[in-house]
Amino acid sequence: MSVGTLVRRFFLVEMAQGMWITLKNHFRPHITMEYPRERPALAPRFRGVPRLRRDPGTAEELCVGCLLCEQICPDDCISIVVDKRPGGKGKMAKSFIIDYERCCFCGLCVDPCPTTPITAIYMSHDYELSDYSRQEFITQREALVDGHPLKRYAK
Ligand code: SF4
Ligand code: SF4
Repeated sequence: MSVGTLVRRFFLVEMAQGMWITLKNHFRPHITMEYPRERPALAPRFRGVPRLRRDPGTAEELCVGCLLCEQICPDDCISIVVDKRPGGKGKMAKSFIIDYERCCFCGLCVDPCPTTPITAIYMSHDYELSDYSRQEFITQREALVDGHPLKRYAK
């Protein structure tokens, strides 16, 4: 072993260098996001879970029960039962279920939706789905319209 190495080991030079690097980085700004204490700002076109919406003017549900979204879904996670609208004019979804556990957030269900000027089904910005029970992911029409009761685990 050379004298230089011996001196470095005796005075713990490598350890001091390591401590210096740790100290320097300790005061640098964080580059990671501390989720769930911090949440990212989402892009306008971010695709979260699919949801249903009402007509902003009349507050009526927009879905006309055409079943196109159910047919196009590649994961077969949409189930709709169609009925006549009260009053007999047109159809509506009597039951509308999306199994979020199977959904891959592809957004294909939105494309064929025929309602205008806004689609009845849309990709929301809701993305926090963790839960303890698989049953919680089977989302009924009411929760699809009013919002899935998302559980926030942040303190
Ligand atoms: S986002 Fe894709 S996988 Fe999810 S319900 Fe729509 S079509 Fe199906
Ligand atoms: S495509 Fe639109 S209108 Fe047709 S069933 Fe799906 S959500 Fe309803």
